Amino acid sequence: MAELSKLKDVIARHGLSANKALGQNFLLDSNLLAKIVRCAGDIKSETVYEVGPGPGGLTRAILDAGVKKLVAVEYDVRAVEALAELVAHDARLNVLHGDALKLDEQALVGKSCHIIANLPYNIGTALLVRWLSNERPWPSWWQSLTLMFQKEVAERIIAKPDTKHYGRLAILAQWRAEPRITMHVPASAFSPAPKVNSAVVHIVPREPLVDIPVKTLETITAAAFGQRRKMLRTSLKSATRDVPALLDYAGIDGNRRAETLSVKEFCTLAEGLTKVCVD
Ligand code: SAM
Repeated sequence: MAELSKLKDVIARHGLSANKALGQNFLLDSNLLAKIVRCAGDIKSETVYEVGPGPGGLTRAILDAGVKKLVAVEYDVRAVEALAELVAHDARLNVLHGDALKLDEQALVGKSCHIIANLPYNIGTALLVRWLSNERPWPSWWQSLTLMFQKEVAERIIAKPDTKHYGRLAILAQWRAEPRITMHVPASAFSPAPKVNSAVVHIVPREPLVDIPVKTLETITAAAFGQRRKMLRTSLKSATRDVPALLDYAGIDGNRRAETLSVKEFCTLAEGLTKVCVD
């Protein structure tokens, strides 16, 4: 794409000064951007959905990977205007002005796509939870997620039991998907540099550990981690009146605390909620 304007020129020409409220920390290094896209695996001839293209650095790298179609959603109208040159240059790209938290993505991208994004920090977790919470079918309308998060959020996504980052997000991300950190990105790589370092997380869906409604799992994890320091026989009372029957079903000692349970044990508790608890 040598004939396209340089990203720095695009930013200057469109007055795209970073707006903190929109989580705007741009990536301008084409080698780094290509490396992030490689974390998504082979996306040649695939459909990709990008949230927050900004000035279009990651967008260009995704197009360079040979995708069939790229749908990008951007909230900042200045960035949408700045992307007009790229849209005119490449017919595979469709840029929409909108809020990624409110869109019907399936209607935009169809039933099979890869999501790649350098997410705005303020809505990154909310978007991930939204994409992981699809009831059925599973795998969902997306085939993989390749997402930049602040490092601490990335660690919460991949966390294992008995570690400080283990909690609701780890369980939601791991009960029917495999998340891993594929790359660490220092704060200095962004313009402007944020206060924290970042990491790219790649998530691929797989068979659920136990076939349960995601809402039930959320009820259990919200109760257990809502009172993280309490024993399960106490914390689970907000999920059911019949805690002893639930613990008995799952074969779990009520003196244990939430962070000691494996993801599978949480799934079994969620299954128990639908089978042995009347309320
Ligand atoms: N992809 C660009 C890059 O890597 O340089 C920009 C990434 S920047 C971290 C996040 C982008 O998300 C910004 O362009 C911001 O305007 C956009 N954004 C923020 N909130 C959004 C929302 N609710 N829906 C869509 N885009 C949003």
